[in-house]
Amino acid sequence: DWVSMGRSTQWLCGGGGLLAVSDNSPFCTAYADAGQRDMMKKKKVVVLGTGWAGTSFLKNLTHPSYEVQVVSPRNYFAFTPLLPSVTNGTVEARSIVEPIRNIVRKKKFDAQYREAECYKIDTQNKKVHCRSQKTNLGGIEEFTVDYDYLVIAMGARPNTFNTPGVLEHAHFLKEIEDAQRIRRTVIDCFERASLPSISEEEKKRILHFVVVGGGPTGVEFSAELHDFVNEDLAKLYPTLKKHVKITLLEASDHILNMFDKRITAFAEQKFHRDGINLKVGSMVTKVTETEISTKEIATGELVNTPYGMVVWSTGIGTRPVVMDFMKQIGQTNRRVLATDEWLRVEGSDCIYALGDCATINQRKVIEDISAIFNKADKKNTGRLKVDDFKEVINDICERYPQVEIHLRKRQLKDFVHLIKHSHGDDEFNIEKFKSSLSEVDSQLKNLPATAQVAAQQGAYLADCFNRMELCEKYPEGPLRFRGAGRHRFRPFRYKHFGQFAPLGGEQTAAQLPGDWISIGQSTQWLWYSVYASKLVSWRTRMLVISDWARRFIFGRDSSRI
Ligand code: FAD
Repeated sequence: DWVSMGRSTQWLCGGGGLLAVSDNSPFCTAYADAGQRDMMKKKKVVVLGTGWAGTSFLKNLTHPSYEVQVVSPRNYFAFTPLLPSVTNGTVEARSIVEPIRNIVRKKKFDAQYREAECYKIDTQNKKVHCRSQKTNLGGIEEFTVDYDYLVIAMGARPNTFNTPGVLEHAHFLKEIEDAQRIRRTVIDCFERASLPSISEEEKKRILHFVVVGGGPTGVEFSAELHDFVNEDLAKLYPTLKKHVKITLLEASDHILNMFDKRITAFAEQKFHRDGINLKVGSMVTKVTETEISTKEIATGELVNTPYGMVVWSTGIGTRPVVMDFMKQIGQTNRRVLATDEWLRVEGSDCIYALGDCATINQRKVIEDISAIFNKADKKNTGRLKVDDFKEVINDICERYPQVEIHLRKRQLKDFVHLIKHSHGDDEFNIEKFKSSLSEVDSQLKNLPATAQVAAQQGAYLADCFNRMELCEKYPEGPLRFRGAGRHRFRPFRYKHFGQFAPLGGEQTAAQLPGDWISIGQSTQWLWYSVYASKLVSWRTRMLVISDWARRFIFGRDSSRI
């Protein structure tokens, strides 16, 4: 078992090096065999996508036993939380992207990047069909890539809910190009409105900016636009300021629904003070080149409003290639790919899905929760003391942090209180709980489609892959997490670190773990420091910090380039 490598071994092999594979010398044969065995053993991993999930997987994958091919139409990773800041030039587009080849070249194993999109997954032959884009690379090239393991991290596309005219006339805020386009359009609107031939009425239309969707992205964009107009454009186009109007449309009763009520209320009041026209309970039915049609949900009234620019930010939908794949594997009645808790696509052994294109199948989670209750009910009486019930709920929250996100602690207490009183005693009826599980089920929504989830999933899966060989070698060893028949790795557990909602004017709201709410200027500084620390490289970190400093000193740049 003596291993020799290097120049001396080369001389021992008669100067043939690897060409000496055919040499009968036992050393050379052993050397060549080991090399060949290594090559044979290398598993082909194909990663689809260079977003949060794909990049996090790639960055954290360290084990040399893989040969990795990354396929994505985007040859960079984009730090999406700062995209709204790109729409007004607070941060430059290039400051928030990291070339994927910078990450690939640092890998100790064989890793390749191909700028192409996957258009079909062939599970029978374990192949991915890809094509390069005509616009980028001067013509479509088609090729296939073989895989042993496939990691699907293709994200999602904007959801238009099939609203007529949205694709043709609205802007999305999903990619770097979208943010750059929005920046140019805002400036175009101001330049056009300042032309002498434009009537006052037309000026009002051109300078009416409509944002559809009161989620974190829509709210942050509205706030950024308001700051851009008031802090920079108002000085450059003083006569136009009076015509500018920003409208935020939201179909439900409130904006920032996923946040605590205190944050929602603060944001709504702030927008009111800032003069942002917030219209809740208003659903968009159609968008034309110059008008946006809405239906007031309460009254059914239809309103047509002239606009200059519409930004559509109402959530995400499934990419066609993912939809095709779902059909192929029989997941037709779902919105996104269902995986188990180990992020394996249900019904498949070697295909993993993470990030916005996937969701952990909650049915299993509900079954699991049910089993936890059964276990807690040792005497099988069908009843639990309320204190035991609280303990069980705590256990569930620990295992499924997404339960805690949705059943926030305060609500959780209310929930216990409610059950205690509805049963009229201090015991808790498990059967009744199970029948009301559907109520909890609605709270037990899927993990949010956020960068936080995607990045944690990527790191988790890479960790599993790094330990795969060891686990296969010692399947019954201490690394096996669960008993026979279960996967050898611990299941994925999401850790929620909180969420920010920048509201403009150097004010940010944050909902942090432990139901801790923080709002104001100090939270804005927390936002600056968290995002600076989360940027993927020192290069991007320095660029973003210098962009922020530039904005503080010189203001935002309003040239149309
Ligand atoms: P993505 O990051 O979208 O990456 C998908 C990748 O797949 C891309 O590289 C894409 O080019 C590639 N791809 C697409 N089609 C194909 C194909 N056919 N073949 C191969 N590759 C393909 N989350 C937070 O947690 N905090 C925030 O503050 C926050 N702010 C946001 C602000 C904005 C404006 C937006 C748009 C999102 C924000 N998010 C935030 C959400 C977060 O960006 C997403 O949840 C996250 O990007 C999901 O990561 P992903 O890897 O699944 O998808």
